[in-house]
This record gives sequence, structure tokens and C-alpha cells, in this order.
Amino acid sequence: MLGRSLSELEAWAEQQGEKPFRGRQLHDWIYAKGARSLDAVTVLPKAWRQRLLNSPPAGSPDWIGRSQELHRSIARDGTTKLLLATADGLSLETVGIPAKGRLTACVSSQVGCSMACRFCATGKGGLQRSLAVHEIVDQVLAVREAMDERPSHVVFMGMGEPLLNRDAVLAAIRCLCADLGMAQRQITVSTVGVPRTLPTLAERALAELGRAQFTLAVSLHAPDQRLREELIPTAHAYPIEALLDDCRCYVAITGRRVSFEYILLGGLNDQPHHAEALARLIRGFQSHVNLIPYNPIEEEEFQRPAPAAVEAFRRILEARHGAVSVRASRGLDADAACGQLRRRLSPGITAHA
Ligand code: SAH
Repeated sequence: MLGRSLSELEAWAEQQGEKPFRGRQLHDWIYAKGARSLDAVTVLPKAWRQRLLNSPPAGSPDWIGRSQELHRSIARDGTTKLLLATADGLSLETVGIPAKGRLTACVSSQVGCSMACRFCATGKGGLQRSLAVHEIVDQVLAVREAMDERPSHVVFMGMGEPLLNRDAVLAAIRCLCADLGMAQRQITVSTVGVPRTLPTLAERALAELGRAQFTLAVSLHAPDQRLREELIPTAHAYPIEALLDDCRCYVAITGRRVSFEYILLGGLNDQPHHAEALARLIRGFQSHVNLIPYNPIEEEEFQRPAPAAVEAFRRILEARHGAVSVRASRGLDADAACGQLRRRLSPGITAHA
């Protein structure tokens, strides 16, 4: 049910021999009230609920399709990481990040990831599978439930590569806007770049959503192809110039600016000459650059950048390019910072492989 629109739920109720307004009630209870099971939707006739509960849809124990919360860890800054279990027993992570006047849900698009970026914990375990629409929307509801506040922003920066699960991601965005009342402008989709997918993303977004107003964030991370390939093995098949051309194409189709993400790894890509090269690379490209100081992960020896290096990098880029910001690390002590999501958590919780 989760992920379905009002008219789909109305049509479904009718198919079941009920009045369409039953679909509207279901919609209200799923999205506004956050009902976790059909049993809890007490506004529906008991006999009907009973009948439905006796014949759950294939592969799902319940009609609504909520994941189960397995674990919650809360960092000192309030960042809340949730470990969720899907109906088929996979675990995935989602993070709620509170800040002044906003609550951001950082959601996963896949369980695991096949991109294997060297600095990213998720990439170490490979890909289990892509998430379905209801499993993506569920994460936003789970953050709302855990933090008792409606997320104002959603970023697809959890586990996985959204462009390898494009249709579900777009359908989830549609649902978040139409059914949960979010604005597309409050949603960001982050990609490391998959060849030949950005122009189609733009076209599909226009077709599915009517307009493409969410922000596209592209994980650039290096000012040249050689260094980029060192950090991102899949970049081998996608020259940086081709990636930038595809970004330009995305901008031409959607009329939206893109933003670039640039992870700062101490001594590796955080020197002044890297900032100058980056400014040259994206010269004339109206874009925002988000610098992300590396958050340490267990498996790698990369260094966090020195604060002075971050500041120098920011200044050079600001002088030569313009819009630039540094992302504050949130939730570091709960292992919930960027790139730290993985299916390993507290004792007592076994990750399902
Ligand atoms: N696959 C998508 C979205 C998931 S990651 C992408 O690559 O964009 C979201 C962001 O976190 C990306 O920019 C990613 O490079 C960054 N990231 C990954 N590991 C990190 C780490 N250890 N420290 C800081 N940022 C990291």
C-alpha cells in the first residue's frame, strides 16, 4: 500500500468491492497517521480488515508494507540512526538529522551498494538489492516516528546508488510530494555518476513528476580523471568530461542547477592546487559545491583533512567559482555520518547477508 497514490488506493478499494472513500481513509491512515498494519486502521470495517489480513499479498506479511525498526542510535547532536528490517529480512540504515528549523531524512535507495567507492563503508559489502518504492517511503515515515517530527527535507545520501534504482526513486519522490506533502525542492538525489543515465533521469523525472525540481547532487570528489579513478573505481568507465557533459545536459533539460559534492581526504585531494584545478574544471558551470570532510571508516587509512586545509580549499573555490559550503559532520559518534552506513551495528543484531 505504501507508495500508492490516493487514486490508486481508491481504485483498489473498489476492486475489493468496497466504496472508493475507503481508499481515501486508508490513505489518510497510512500517510498522515502512520499506521503500521492494516489491523490498526480501525476506521475500516472489521470484517473487511479480517478478510484482508487472512490473505496478505505475496512476499509481505502485511498489506501496508512498513519495515520494522531493529535498532536506534542517537548521537549527542541529536542525529538519529535507524536500522530497519525489510519484510525479507534485509537490514538497511536511515538517518534523521535535526538542525535549526529543519529535519532531514537521509534515506537509502539500495541495501548495500555496487559502486565500491574506496572511502565509503557501504561499498565494502557489495550490493544486496535495490529497495522498492514502499521501502524508501517507509524510511521517511520511520524518521518521523522516531523523532516525532515531520522531515522537512529528504536526501538520497544513505546506502546505495540512486541512479541504479531510478524508477523506484522517482516513484518515491512522487509519493513524498503528493502523499506526504513535501516539496520537490526539499529533496536531493545524490549520485556518483553512472554512464548514460543523467539525461534519461531528467526526461523520466519530467515524465513522472511533471517537473524536475529536486536537487541533483553529483559526487565529483576529484578535479581530474586520474585521481577520481583512484578514489572511485567505477569512474574508470566514465571520463570526468563525459560526466560533466551529462550534467550540462541534465541542466538543459530540467532548467535546474546541479550541485557538486567533493569529499576532502587529508593530503590526497585537499591541497590548494586541487582547489584551483577543481575551479578550472567547473569554470562557467553555474553550480554549488559542497565540501565534505572525510568521515573515517574502519576499513581504510584515509585521513581527515586538517581544518586549515578545509578553510583554504573553501576560500580558493569561493574566490574562483562562487557558491561553496562545507558540510558539517553530523552523527559521527553514532556511526551515522556520511559514508558510515553499513549493516553492522550493536551487539545482538545480526546482519542478514
Ligand atoms: N551513491 C550516492 C549517494 C550515497 S553517498 C553518491 O555517491 O553520491 C552520499 C555522499 O556521501 C556521497 O557524496 C559520498 O561520496 C559521500 N561519502 C561516502 N563515504 C564518505 C565518508 N567516509 N566520509 C564523507 N563522505 C562520504
